[in-house]
Amino acid sequence: MNRLIFDNSFTRELPADPEKANYRRQVTGACYSRVKPAPVAAPKLVACSLETAQLLDLSADACGRDEFTQIFSGNRLLPGMDPYAACYGGHQFGNWAGQLGDGRAINLGEIINRKSQRLTLQLKGAGSTPYSRNADGLAVLRSSVREFLCSEAMFHLGVPTTRALSLILTGEMVERDMFYDGHPKEEPGAVVCRVAPSFTRFGNFEIFASRNETGVLKQLLDYTIRTDFPDPGESVIPDTRGYIAPYPEKSVNRVYINWFEDVCRRTADMIAHWMRVGFVHGVMNTDNMSVLGLTIDYGPYGWLENYDPNWTPNTTDANGRRYRFGHQPSVAHWNLAQLANAIYPVVGDVDALQQALSVYASRFQEQWNIMVGAKLGLREFEPDTDKELANELFTILSLVETDMTIFFRRLALVDFSGYEEDGSYKSTESMVKKTENTGAGNAGKKPKPNSINRDLLPETLMDAYYVPEQLTDDYKNRMARWLKRYAQRITRDNLPHETRRVNMNSVNPKYVLRNYLAQLAIDKAEQEDFSMIHDLLETLRNPYSEQPDKEHFAIKRPDWARHRPGCSMLSCSS
Ligand code: AMP
Ligand code: MG
Repeated sequence: MNRLIFDNSFTRELPADPEKANYRRQVTGACYSRVKPAPVAAPKLVACSLETAQLLDLSADACGRDEFTQIFSGNRLLPGMDPYAACYGGHQFGNWAGQLGDGRAINLGEIINRKSQRLTLQLKGAGSTPYSRNADGLAVLRSSVREFLCSEAMFHLGVPTTRALSLILTGEMVERDMFYDGHPKEEPGAVVCRVAPSFTRFGNFEIFASRNETGVLKQLLDYTIRTDFPDPGESVIPDTRGYIAPYPEKSVNRVYINWFEDVCRRTADMIAHWMRVGFVHGVMNTDNMSVLGLTIDYGPYGWLENYDPNWTPNTTDANGRRYRFGHQPSVAHWNLAQLANAIYPVVGDVDALQQALSVYASRFQEQWNIMVGAKLGLREFEPDTDKELANELFTILSLVETDMTIFFRRLALVDFSGYEEDGSYKSTESMVKKTENTGAGNAGKKPKPNSINRDLLPETLMDAYYVPEQLTDDYKNRMARWLKRYAQRITRDNLPHETRRVNMNSVNPKYVLRNYLAQLAIDKAEQEDFSMIHDLLETLRNPYSEQPDKEHFAIKRPDWARHRPGCSMLSCSS
């Protein structure tokens, strides 16, 4: 543990709340309040991510020691830690919500690792802070399992995200009304240690703009650019601590505009990744948007099972569906506009901010095209023809319940080399492929031949459908027509089948944290069986690889999970 060298720039360089006592209040003129984690009764390590430990230069051995559990449950502080809760605000579901802040997250401090990377350690569920409003500052096991597993799953999928080091039971019970229906229950409490270069959100800037605290706003902006965006290509801006004078009107400061553009770009990239893997964040409030473009705050998120752009896992958002899968790109744009408004008092130039904001849309389109082209295994996305091809596929996928993850893996298996103009195959030989196991449902059986069935649909795609009775003649004809166009398109690319398969499998995951899998792991964990958490953590380390003994984690949602709370319906209660 003494490998952890702390260098707490956030608390050192930004204004602190002068009030030392820990009670709920509005905190003005400050970026944070110092507060200590609440000690817990009987901490017990449930799981630890070795990759995140490595990021901190901690060995597996170190993670197994009692000292580790004591520290990352909040029971013990290391020399050099300077714990605090950050002040931020946010737009929740489209409305300004005022001060929010770290209500149950306590930052322990920043370490510099051997690679000179700056990383903030943060405990989630470590007790109340001045920002806890009317809640308890605690987290329950179920939401902590979800945060822990999903952070790491996203990392291995190549999606920008905050990381999770550890998941620790506190040995205390916490009361939660899971569906806000007047039926509270006692649940086991837990703490997750999260790790990220910083946890600064859009809302950290919004709060100061909303209070006309332009001085602090500028300090935070300068600090963030200096510390979180130390691009050597950019001019490193001077430390302007103590700056309070109003910014000269109309003078464009390229540093701020460039920074905002960078945030737009990072956000666009993150959203394109979400759309690629079928992730629905569920609560894209501006306080849940990281300026680093990291996926942050894993609450009522979910994974698309059947491809449905209108789906949201969040029951709190069931009416407006503001944060549904297909709406995420435009919500991110809206959120960025709020960030632009927030920094306007410092930047002082609407046109420049508008122009920078437009970078989001163009960058997202560019990333979307690249991503869709890759999902389809194209050499290159050619907008003139491929846009229509992709749109038609997404429409078809939403017509009947089609598992998005399975569909793309199976599409990669179909060998179109013998495909004829009329939709038939030249020779039966090329239809039979035994390159991959075809699913746990068939464990022990021979892999299905990769043949076209009597409905002109490749047999291997059939496993992607939830309700075979939904496959009407109209549907089958439309899909067959699409497959024909797709076959023609990839024939034009002239890539060997095997190359296309490998390429597609490197962007279309086989293993994602399916909603029901997370729930099964939680059910077991609540019975003190943590084996499934470990098993999932291990499997999700290699989401793009075939793992023959893990096929049971790649099958589509079983019917019992269709309407089970926790599987398809989640609330913000956590
Ligand atoms: P979230 O919807 O989880 O992003 O949280 C929105 C705001 O509520 C943030 O300021 C959180 O820190 C705060 N919050 C959420 N849950 C709790 C809790 N159990 N205790 C205190 N504050 C909380
Ligand atoms: Mg949040």
